[in-house]
Amino acid sequence: MEHVVIMGSGCAGYTAALYTARANLNPLVLTGILPGGLLTTTSTVENFPGFPDGIDGYELMTRMQQQAERFGAKVKFATVDAVDLGGSPLRLTVDGDPVETRSLIIATGAGHRHLGLESEGQLEKKGVTYCATCDGALPMFRNQPLVVVGGGDSAAEEALYLTRFASVVRLIHRRDELRASRIMAERVLAHPKIEPVWDSVVTEILDVSQDKVTGVQVRNVKTNEESTLDCTGVFIAIGHVPNTQLFRGTLDLDEQGYLVPSRGAATKVPGVFVAGDCSDRVYRQAVTAAGMGCAAAIEAERYLAGLAG
Ligand code: NAP
Repeated sequence: MEHVVIMGSGCAGYTAALYTARANLNPLVLTGILPGGLLTTTSTVENFPGFPDGIDGYELMTRMQQQAERFGAKVKFATVDAVDLGGSPLRLTVDGDPVETRSLIIATGAGHRHLGLESEGQLEKKGVTYCATCDGALPMFRNQPLVVVGGGDSAAEEALYLTRFASVVRLIHRRDELRASRIMAERVLAHPKIEPVWDSVVTEILDVSQDKVTGVQVRNVKTNEESTLDCTGVFIAIGHVPNTQLFRGTLDLDEQGYLVPSRGAATKVPGVFVAGDCSDRVYRQAVTAAGMGCAAAIEAERYLAGLAG
């Protein structure tokens, strides 16, 4: 029987692990399919306090893991198949095996939102990608025109990163103003290799018949004009979808699928707490996720102390 199981190994999960480990609760962290979470797929993180020169996302997450492990956190590369939060102890099925725990911290983060085009799925990994730092340096993208879809900080970051490799980066956004923070937007708009394509949506990714990306079909939402842009890569950065499917019907979710706590980090199920991007539709920053992980850990610790009596 575990005292605390933490689902997820991003900033929220590892911070919760650090705090519960320092409280001698010997937490079990189940990493999920992407150990370290989405931050491991970003390049330099410039806005995590304490790193005036920025820090590589992968390195930041590795350090967080080491810090939690130093105090006794157990980190297991595993995914949770099912949860039964109906009784005490709480029951999980982890890669087919049963795990029982007195408390659970859900820090499952979020995954990439997809455009929803059939051609997007058919050409994934054949030029369609959701991660510039993972794939940007591939030979197929070097000195070629590339497309980034989206207008937020992620799209801005992807576009800037890809300027290292691409001949030109066309940033396709459905409005005529970026959602990205001012500093990122200014960098994007000042970059000689980035060409914004405003008020436009991608209606098709070409060319399924050639089994590789050769371009995108784009529609201007104001004029309805259709055009084709040549490219060898399409980097989609249109936001995220919370990883909360396992809890549908058991815990409260909002209309976008984010977990809604009942008070602080606590849910309506005693002993179950939430932290990070799976329950944050507003801020979604590395540092806020870490803060939420800390809060969930403190609440779990108090809950367990209450049980003990
Ligand atoms: P986001 O802020 O939600 O932006 C998503 C963008 O995609 C928006 O511009 C949105 O358009 C567009 N979009 C959404 N659905 C679309 C669709 N179906 N078709 C076309 N476009 C679509 O997501 P994000 O950029 O991933 O950022 C998420 C959070 O992480 C934010 O809080 C951000 O600040 C943070 N973040 C920070 C950094 C950094 O600080 N360096 C880096 C990455 C992420 P509209 O603008 O029209 O809604």
